[in-house]
Formats: sequence, structure tokens, C-alpha cells
Amino acid sequence: MKSRALVLACLVAAWPLANAAQQASTKAFTGARLIDGTDRAPVDNATIVVRDGKIVAAGAGATVPAGAERVSLAGKTVIPGLVNAHGHVGNTVGLEQGKYSAENVERDLKTYASYGVTTVFSLGDDQAAGIAARDSQKTPSLSRARLYVAGPVLAPKSPEEAVKLVDEVAAMKVDIVKIRVDDNLGTTQKMAPEIYRAVIDQAHKKGLPVAVHLFYLADAKAVLDAGADFIAHSVRDTDVDDSFVSMIKRRDVCYSPTLMREVSTFVYESKPAWFTDPLFLKHADAKTLETLQQPARQEQMRNSKSAQAYKKGLEVASRNVKKLSDAGVRIAMGTDTGPPARFQGYFELMELELMAKAGMTPQKVLAASTRDAARCMKLDREIGTIEANKWADFVVLDADPLANVSNVKKINAVYVAGNRVAE
Ligand SMILES: [Zn+2]
Repeated sequence: MKSRALVLACLVAAWPLANAAQQASTKAFTGARLIDGTDRAPVDNATIVVRDGKIVAAGAGATVPAGAERVSLAGKTVIPGLVNAHGHVGNTVGLEQGKYSAENVERDLKTYASYGVTTVFSLGDDQAAGIAARDSQKTPSLSRARLYVAGPVLAPKSPEEAVKLVDEVAAMKVDIVKIRVDDNLGTTQKMAPEIYRAVIDQAHKKGLPVAVHLFYLADAKAVLDAGADFIAHSVRDTDVDDSFVSMIKRRDVCYSPTLMREVSTFVYESKPAWFTDPLFLKHADAKTLETLQQPARQEQMRNSKSAQAYKKGLEVASRNVKKLSDAGVRIAMGTDTGPPARFQGYFELMELELMAKAGMTPQKVLAASTRDAARCMKLDREIGTIEANKWADFVVLDADPLANVSNVKKINAVYVAGNRVAE
């Protein structure tokens, strides 16, 4: 009895404090041009009200609650935080891979966020620290990119092993299963159909979608036929045909172009133009850049057959993304960043530029990079647009990306759960 009275007294005493804390956690972002990521037209002089990390109201009609902390965004344009449907985290230090650690996961998620990429789906090489990062992110205090994971890329040698490996990643509580169906330009053995079918069937039994790395059109059709849920790279051997378009649309499968992945395979044959961009240099490691510019290394890339083949692959990929986007296939922005020399954050901004260069309108590019990517990854109840009840993940720009997609590089501030991300 005595302790119950004490608890009650404490509750009563804490009540005004809790109320004050709640008011302090309400923020109102005012005066911006709002591109909310839906099909609605942009709204000028909008207000975004955020409480406990989530959007309460957004638009021209939203009112600022009494006691809210006001943040003026006059003259700015706000877009939803970018969603990268194909990245990787935690593995790379400089140009070395295989360095997975909790610190590297945290570092990468901060880097992504500082460039406006507020959610990343890591499609492979994920370990316990990544799962822990995912499990701890549903909090109003978050200020780094959200993470979802695939666990290790599965490479079973038999249908039986496929079942075993899927069961293992399901037990890890991954968000998606990732496999590769590719011969790496004819240099390695491709996963056999009976094996990827076993992976897909078992994953579906466990309630998990399957993302497939591929290169060839024939494989893209075959894995769609087998039930694959996500095409994790562009078709790069040849132009997609109408039968592929109708197959991918019928199954409502999303397609992630990862154009910057191709760029990374050949671009260091000389010094890339962006190596002098202050926005890039903010997070790029000087020693890595120096190594990438060593003449012997550049020459090796110039003479590399695979580099030159992937350079051609980029042209095919660019035509394909335009054709698929025009046909109404859902495109999910992805880059395959994270491995060495695939720079997280900055590459996503360049991916948007490459999608525009391929012929997609700025509006379609933005949709693919926000709402559609979120829908593809089944995250659209929580992120992807600036609407009530979603996390307050958004990017404040100095210029309108619908006028020119490159304006996504004019970052004024990035917010995750309403918290300003470190630059
Ligand atoms: Zn990848």
C-alpha cells in the first residue's frame, strides 16, 4: 500500500515535467516549399509539425502548436529523405574490405544521412551489429540513416544447402534474402536454376522476399519466373524486351538500376571530375583518393577488360531504366555503394543525376528515390513521403530538384526523426 502511494505520488509529480518535455519535443518547420513525395503538387510556404520523431501534419494548412520549437526554412525546398534500396554497410576501411564492425556500421549510416540518404537497405555482408543497429532505430532520438539488412549473400551449392542457409538467415531475423545469379562476365560459375528456386521457395516459406543480383536478361526472366521479389541490378547485356516488361509488371517486382556501380568499375581510369567537389570531399578519405589516382592503378583500369565491358553495360543499363520507367515498372533507387571506391551518400546523389541523364523526369527520379523505393522495400507505412504518422526524415535543399535533379546536391540540412544530422 505504502509503495503504491509512493508510485502514485511520483507519477503526479512527474506529470508536469512529461508535459513540458513533450512540448519541447514538438518542432515546427515553417516557410519551405514542400515536395512531399506523393503525387500532390509542391506546396509553397508549408509547415511541417513533428512530435516525438514523427510527422503530425505537413502542408500549407498545418498550424504550429503552442510551445513548439520553430525552425524557419524560408526560401528552402524540402523533399523526403532518400531511400537507397541497394547499399552495403560496415565492411570497408579505405580500400580494404572485410572490416565489418559496429563502429563501421555507425560511421556508414552517419555518412549516408549527411548526404540526405536517410534509409539504406544493405543487400549483403550484414552481421549481428547491423541487425542490432536496425533493432535500435525506432526511436525519436535517431540521427543517422535507418538500416535494413540481408545478412550474408547466400551461395548454396545444392537445393538442400539452399534450405539450410535460408533457415539460418531467417533465424538471424534479416529483412530480405540476397543471392547472385551471375557468371561475372563469364569468369565464374552461375548459380543453377534448381538452387535459386530452392532459395526462393524456402525464403517465401519463411515470409522473406528475395533480392537477386543479376546481369543478363535471360536470368532476369528466369528468376522472375521462379518468384524473385526484387531485381537488384540493371539488366546490362542487352536491351530489355516487351516480354520482360510484361513479366516484371505482372509480378509487380521492383527494379534497382545501380548505375553508379557500373561507373565505379571504370571511372578511376582517370581522375573523376567529382574529386574536386567540396561536397564529396567532406567525407572522402584523402589516402583513398590518393591511391585511386596512382598512375599504375589508373592504367590497370584502362586496360581492364571487365572495366571496359561494364562501361558498355552502363549504356545498356541507362537505356533499360528509361524504357522500364516509361512502361510503368517501379524503379527503386539503388547504387551498390559500400564496397571500396563506391562512396556512400555522394554516389546516391550522382545516381539520381544518372537516372535523369538516362531520360527519367526529375519527378520520376525523385519518386524512385523516395516513395517508390520505400514501397518496394515494404517500408512505406513508416517512411518515403512527408505525411502524418511517418518518421520525420527529410532533406532541406537550397534549390528545387524538380527544376534540376542536381539540386539534390545543394543540401542545407538533413533531418532524421526530426533531428538535424551532423554534416
Ligand atoms: Zn550489392
